[in-house]
Amino acid sequence: MTDRTTWTASPFVSEIAPITASDDEIRRHLADAEIQPLLPALAYATGDMSLLRDDLVPDPLMLNLPGGGFTDEQAATARALALDVLIRFRDGGCVPAPVPSDDDVLRIMRFAVGGTDVAAYLPLLEEELAHRGEDRRAPTWHKDDVAPDVDFRVVVVGAGMSGLLAAHRLAQAGVDHVIVEKNDDVGGTWYENGYPGCRVDNPNHNFSYSFAQRHDWPFHYSTQPVLQRYFADCADVFGLRPHIRFGTEVVSATWSEEDQRWAVVVRGAEGDEETLTAQAVVSAVGQLNRPNYPDIPGLGTFAGPAFHSSRWRDDVDLTGKRVAVIGTGASAMQLIPEIAPAVGELLVFQRTPAWMVPTPDYHEPVPEGLTWLYNHVPAYSEFNRFCIFWKMGDGTLANVTVDPDWDVPGSVNAMNSMVQLLFTEYLKQEFADRPDLLEVAVPDYPPGAKRMIRDNGVWAAALKRDNVRLLTGGIREITPTGIVTADGTAHDVDVVIYGTGFTASKFLTPMTVTGRDGVDLHEHWQGEARAYLGVTIPGFPNLFCLYGPNTNIVINGSIIYFSECGVRYILGLLGMLLDSGKRSLDVREGVHDAFNAAVDAENARMAWGVSSVNSWYKNASGRVSQNWPFTLLEYWQRTQAPDPGDYELSG
Ligand SMILES: Cc1cc2nc3c(=O)[nH]c(=O)nc-3n(C[C@H](O)[C@H](O)[C@H](O)COP(=O)(O)OP(=O)(O)OC[C@H]3O[C@@H](n4cnc5c(N)ncnc54)[C@H](O)[C@@H]3O)c2cc1C
Repeated sequence: MTDRTTWTASPFVSEIAPITASDDEIRRHLADAEIQPLLPALAYATGDMSLLRDDLVPDPLMLNLPGGGFTDEQAATARALALDVLIRFRDGGCVPAPVPSDDDVLRIMRFAVGGTDVAAYLPLLEEELAHRGEDRRAPTWHKDDVAPDVDFRVVVVGAGMSGLLAAHRLAQAGVDHVIVEKNDDVGGTWYENGYPGCRVDNPNHNFSYSFAQRHDWPFHYSTQPVLQRYFADCADVFGLRPHIRFGTEVVSATWSEEDQRWAVVVRGAEGDEETLTAQAVVSAVGQLNRPNYPDIPGLGTFAGPAFHSSRWRDDVDLTGKRVAVIGTGASAMQLIPEIAPAVGELLVFQRTPAWMVPTPDYHEPVPEGLTWLYNHVPAYSEFNRFCIFWKMGDGTLANVTVDPDWDVPGSVNAMNSMVQLLFTEYLKQEFADRPDLLEVAVPDYPPGAKRMIRDNGVWAAALKRDNVRLLTGGIREITPTGIVTADGTAHDVDVVIYGTGFTASKFLTPMTVTGRDGVDLHEHWQGEARAYLGVTIPGFPNLFCLYGPNTNIVINGSIIYFSECGVRYILGLLGMLLDSGKRSLDVREGVHDAFNAAVDAENARMAWGVSSVNSWYKNASGRVSQNWPFTLLEYWQRTQAPDPGDYELSG
């Protein structure tokens, strides 16, 4: 195949601007700096490796603490050094040093992460950081070169983050495609979850496409409307909208061995059905798109407004009302502090408490000085992204890996136990004046067994309000007037809100998908969704999943990373297929099974695998069907390019 790589910089980031600020202004901006990426970025930009001083190396165990674990003295020294360098850089005409050698880049990265050897990560990071302004994950082939005369069309199901990404890459490779989206706009998760307080819990500088970075995120953890705008802007600047059929749901997809293509039945808003044909289907339907309602007797009998957090009803005015929120998962813990001040009475029904990660800047805007640094200091934004990638990614995986010799209840290894102590201490402080709440606020399972929730104090403040009551005894039934708890008490309310998550492990539902020999995907899976690398399923040729089985993370990383790796892999498979002159590819069963056995074995060694606490990571039979248990590096390595031996090509 010819290499048609096109290097493109982010459309949202202009060139680094020359520094014209005075010394005092630079000093002021530096007061807002994130310290961890500061000296690494300056070493990169100026070539001055003496900045990487031994006394300023961060402690790798403290990176996730607020401020990165630097002492005040270290932070002040780093800022003073940076001021000096930036003044010289400005006075020298803002000319960046030549791009450092790989050895130097590695030295800089190792310093940034506190000394850990990250050599294996270098090629991954070249892509992830796009630090030379290059989109290294763009397809390296174009259909015009590979198979100009072959009729080949792809149906992408869903126009959320993953579907948009797939469409962008297909367009870059010149592959004809259509995106079918049941909603009226793009964004998926970020379109649907309009509840008060919805925001990303993974900093935007990481939760964004590697090839569409922004320096002007308004918040460290932006709100839903900001994320929705971002994905809408991506759809616009990458020209994706003309390919999207909005308000149209994919009902079924059926493989025809004779025609070597899929027949995809779609239904419009009026109920009208149509069949599209395509040589390949990419499912980008998300893991968290279909609301989950609890299995409680009387569900559906409540006479007043009752709705799921992801189906927020702006027309229901909660002011002064008696409101019940069922569940205290991620969405509920975001929305409860928002609605608590306005409602008359708020009943919060908790089954299991969550571990909370103290995050003082969770709701804070990105300070002006930090944005200035992103715009004026070469590589600062990239190193910031790298630092987040590391400390919220593979840098934390060891904390949740089971040590077989560790037998302290409630934790899985020594580090995990330290985290448990730290977070317990946080809860003790937060609920110091409310022992009744503290008693039910501290989880009895290891940190990392369930999704941890970011908190800046608003959760405890909400629960402590006079108009809020936390109920932990379980629900017996829902009645037309309210909720009856297990102790038989009837709690009458005006509105019921379900913060009960999504049917995450029911992958690709409610679509009917029929593969080779008329096999129905859901009968084949029997509730046990599995795929090779989360992407391909034996017997379902030319069907590719994004955010598929076992590509979710618990404590580490962002889903965008997984989808970028997954899309690159899919494009690799399509290139391989088109280049071969064959018409279909099917993953070999043995390859798929061996992979899944390895995934299961590794998940059993993780906090979320050993703990018996209920979580959406497990399917009805208890198998961890959601999570990737290995390093982020390993997913990147395994999805970089397909191994032709893993697939059977035919047709
Ligand atoms: C409240 C919330 C907060 C989150 N926060 C984070 C976070 O901080 N970090 C993180 O990494 N992840 C987070 N996630 C996970 C999030 O889902 C992913 O990060 C990401 O947005 C998923 O994108 P996606 O395109 O794969 O799926 P989705 O965003 O779910 O998009 C799927 C799309 O497919 C469409 N669709 C589904 N079925 C059909 C069909 N049959 N026919 C046509 N269209 C269909 C849907 O309408 C939707 O537009 C969060 C999820 C939720 C719900």
